[in-house]
Amino acid sequence: MLTSRPPFGQVPTRSNISGTALKPKLLVLNAGSSSLKFKIFGVEPLVAGMGGMFDRIGDSANCTLKASAPDPLGGKARKWELKLPASDHTSALQEILGFISENVSGSFSREVVAVGHRVVHGLDISAPVLLDTAAIDRIREAAVFAPLHNPAGLQGIEAAQRVFEGVPQVAVFDTAFHATMPPYAYVYGIPYELYDKHQIRRYGFHGTSHKYLVDQAAAMLGKSVSETNVITCHLGNGSSVAAVQNGRCVDTSMGMTPLEGLLMGTRCGDVDPAVVLHIESQLGLSAKETDNLLNKKSGLLGVTGSSDLRAVIEAAHKGEARAQLGLDMLVHRIKKYIGAYTAVLGGKVDAVIFSAGIGENSSLLRGLVLEGLQGLGMEVDSELNQQAVGGRQGDISAPGSRVKLLVIPTDEELSIAQQTLQVVGTGSTNAAAGAGAMAA
Ligand code: ADP
Repeated sequence: MLTSRPPFGQVPTRSNISGTALKPKLLVLNAGSSSLKFKIFGVEPLVAGMGGMFDRIGDSANCTLKASAPDPLGGKARKWELKLPASDHTSALQEILGFISENVSGSFSREVVAVGHRVVHGLDISAPVLLDTAAIDRIREAAVFAPLHNPAGLQGIEAAQRVFEGVPQVAVFDTAFHATMPPYAYVYGIPYELYDKHQIRRYGFHGTSHKYLVDQAAAMLGKSVSETNVITCHLGNGSSVAAVQNGRCVDTSMGMTPLEGLLMGTRCGDVDPAVVLHIESQLGLSAKETDNLLNKKSGLLGVTGSSDLRAVIEAAHKGEARAQLGLDMLVHRIKKYIGAYTAVLGGKVDAVIFSAGIGENSSLLRGLVLEGLQGLGMEVDSELNQQAVGGRQGDISAPGSRVKLLVIPTDEELSIAQQTLQVVGTGSTNAAAGAGAMAA
């Protein structure tokens, strides 16, 4: 139900809330150009609370805040949907805070000990960083490779710096987990100066998810992360695969931008670069039009007419040839990467992991991908495969499978919260009360 709340007048600042004992919290933010996703975490222990999204920022008549919070007693999640005006990310964040203070904790703004931000591109930065002027300059510099995402991320950071003055802010980069790739995996076969002078190379994305999956897989396998060799398949609207040796990424399918690699919802993935030149020179498309065609009109959408795998599967079942072709292309490409990364890992693969919307829900897709891979030591148990859907973690390997086949729901927000906490240190939970007390 859409409800309306009176315009939000006053942000609950650190100084105008007093009262009960403070419970340290982390706030995770993921800013898009007109959206702001958020999630609250309790810190001791690290537990997810309310999360949501402010959408259509800048379009005052249509701004919407959607939120949900788990029921502490394990019942149905509470859900909200409100129309609230927000002209920019700062006012959206203020509205979110007002909403949280009304519905979660009146002293929330004093309880926040750190804010973790998802940032898409961090060039070769290999770890989460405390946001200072140098880090912000680096994010700005990386915007050349992520022209839509990084400026949006910076808007979220600026908003949080204004609203949470003095609270440590941490950037967690989608690229960071892949910074351990060796040069032979990340340098492209084009003149070396393009890498050296212009930083054109493979960076890889979804790193926060891949890292989370490796950590979870290590726990499921009963190994330390530094002994874990896995192939992680993050299969959603955007999809990527990573080869992980001894807990470190050694190759990944996305490249300088998220366009390379697997066939995706609307992105083409791997194509002969000459196709791009041909489209521009022979069909007369501008660079911008080609960019739009390859990123927004290609992939499953371009081949089948739908970017949603569920619709593609349904149409394929009805006998639509193009839908079947798109499905076959998707499966073939994932298989190719699993085979290639098995070779990159010297055949020593502890597990293949499936995650994200497709990987977590489509037992059909997983089954098709794993069909015929017995030679690589991968044997799926079809019953277990059917059961591991709807966000359930599961081991879907048949008893004889040398390589474990795991379904692991990804949780990028939790990973950002964990990494943020690593940067600021758990000692900051005491600093929280201190910061609040000082301001008060
Ligand atoms: P995003 O990259 O936008 O976060 P998601 O990880 O949510 O995307 O994945 C979205 C994709 O997952 C869509 O292609 C959707 O069709 C697919 N998907 C979700 N549930 C199923 C399902 N039960 N069967 C097949 N595909 C599914």
